[in-house]
Formats: sequence, structure tokens, C-alpha cells
Amino acid sequence: MKRLMIIVPCYNEQEVLPTTIEKLSGVMNELLNAEKISRDSGILLVNDGSTDNTWDIISDAHNRTKYVYGLNLYLNSGHQNALLAGLEYAKSICDFTITIDADLQDDIAVIEQMVDKFHEGNHIVYGVRKERKKDSFFKRTTANLFYKVMNFLGAKTIDNHADFRLMSSKAVEILLQYKERNMFLRGVVTKIGLKSDKVYYCRKDREAGVTKYPLKKMLSFAWEGITSLSTKPLKLIMLLGLLIIICSIIALAYVLISYFLNETNRGWASLMISIWFLGGVQLFSIGVVGQYVGKTYIETKERPRYTVTEILNYETKTN
Ligand code: UDP
Ligand code: MG
Repeated sequence: MKRLMIIVPCYNEQEVLPTTIEKLSGVMNELLNAEKISRDSGILLVNDGSTDNTWDIISDAHNRTKYVYGLNLYLNSGHQNALLAGLEYAKSICDFTITIDADLQDDIAVIEQMVDKFHEGNHIVYGVRKERKKDSFFKRTTANLFYKVMNFLGAKTIDNHADFRLMSSKAVEILLQYKERNMFLRGVVTKIGLKSDKVYYCRKDREAGVTKYPLKKMLSFAWEGITSLSTKPLKLIMLLGLLIIICSIIALAYVLISYFLNETNRGWASLMISIWFLGGVQLFSIGVVGQYVGKTYIETKERPRYTVTEILNYETKTN
């Protein structure tokens, strides 16, 4: 019998956690009764430096209920790092993991299908959203645009798959060989290369609480994802520069021809526009290059991705 760890990143999730723990425990019971997982399987709740009572709820649940394990991160390290912390810890103590958000927007009913697919020999099972009716129009369109841009820039991701995913410990081990500080999991897992499959589900509303991804964080997440997986933006600004050079050659030809034809040139307005335009393009391009230089700087420091301050496992149970 294989040991499963369900990994849940939690950032200020006090409203939803009690329900989440109860529902996931229900899933664990069913899997256990169907003899699809081993008795010592568990739910690993990773507290990503929450400022509310999330950790207290986790500790309490750990003492009262059978399945709950906990990992406490010192600071808010971000969704992806919280997942990585969970995966890194779980890899050595279980045979396979499932990552799922704390708000249960992803359908826990397909977890059993995922487990079945693991038993059929898959190392990775992607949870893919069939439709996003419950997401706002804005979130839906921006998300679709994001996947399109990602694919255009050459970063292979699975459409409509976020971080609801089953991974065998072998897959996790390969994943952890990717050493970058700024890891964008859904772009990296497609490179692992082991046998994989998909399950489909409908995305639901948050059970409780509010999103931890306001627009600003969402945009920064998308930009981090793009720049960590692709250097194509650098190539694109080079092409843009080339295009502008060609345009200016054409403009020069036009000026010379009109000079020889003795036409008058009243050009200060167009001159200003072109100066501003070119200044803008240059600043923007330097900014994009700067982003990559900044990233290189951060990567070369090789700082740890997160700091674990407390672990709740079998040994720490009080009953
Ligand atoms: N999360 C986290 N650290 C953060 C932000 C979010 O661990 O800095 C967790 C959060 O608790 C949740 C998951 O990441 O379990 C996804 O966040 P959320 O559901 O708010 O995002 P949305 O579904 O709205 O995109
Ligand atoms: Mg959510």
C-alpha cells in the first residue's frame, strides 16, 4: 500500500481551514477504506507565514485529528515556495503527493481518480479545469491571455492547469533538481518527462475567505512566470529595435527625397513625438533587460527559498 501526502499551502486561511481539514479527512477516509492508500498517509498543511490564526488551527487539528501534519514557514515565502517546502519535506516520507489550494476551489471529488491513475503507473497527474464559469469574467480572460502569452513565449504549460496535481516521489525528486530560487512550478513540471495523465473538473467558488491573489499579485505572478521560463522578451525587444531602425531609414529616405523636391519641412512636432517614442522604447527595453539582470543577481545569491521553523508529524502528536 502506498503512502499519500496531500500538501496544502495556507496563507491567512483561518476562515476556510476547518472546513478544508474536515473535507480532506473525508477523502482520506474513503481512500483508506477502498485500500488505495496506506494507513500512515496524511494531510500536510504548510503555513506560509500567515498573520492570522492559521498556524493555531493547524496545531490544534494536528492534536485532535488523525491525518494532519504541519509545516510552519517563518516568513510569507509565496504560494510556489510554500508548495516546494511541502514537497521537499514530503518526498522522503511518502510515495506520492497531491498538491491542492486551501480554499478547495479545485474539486476534491477527482482525487480518487488521480490516485487510480497513479496506481496505473503515472508519475504526474494534472488537474485540469474544464470550465471556469465560477471565476469572474476578468479572471477568466486574463488567465486565458496568460496561458496564450506563455505558450507564445515558448514556456510550455498545460492549459487551465494550476497547482492541483499528483506527483510521485520520483517526480518530486526530479523537480527538486531544478535549483532556481524563483520557481514557477507549472512551467517546470512539464519538463520532468515521466509518464503523466490528466483529470478534468469544474472549478468552484472559494469555500470561505478571500483570494490571496489580488490584481497586483496576479500580474507580478504572471510576469515572474514569464521571465523565469523564457528569455524571449529579450529577443523581442531586439527585434523591436531593428524595426525602429528600419523605420528611421525609411523616414530618412523620405526627408531626403522631399528636400530634393524642394518641399518645406515643418517637422518639430513629429520630431518631438519620435524623441519621446524612442526614449520610451529605450527605457522600457532597458527595464526589461534590467529585470533579467536583477533575476540573475538574486539567483546567484542562492539563498534558501524558505525557512521552516516548526514541523508537526507523528512524533509531535500529543495523543
Ligand atoms: N497562498 C500561499 N502564499 C501566498 C499566497 C497564497 O500559500 O503568499 C496560498 C493560499 O492560501 C491558497 C493558494 O495559495 O491555498 C492559492 O491562493 P488563492 O486561492 O487565494 O488564489 P486564487 O485561487 O484566488 O488565484
Ligand atoms: Mg483560490
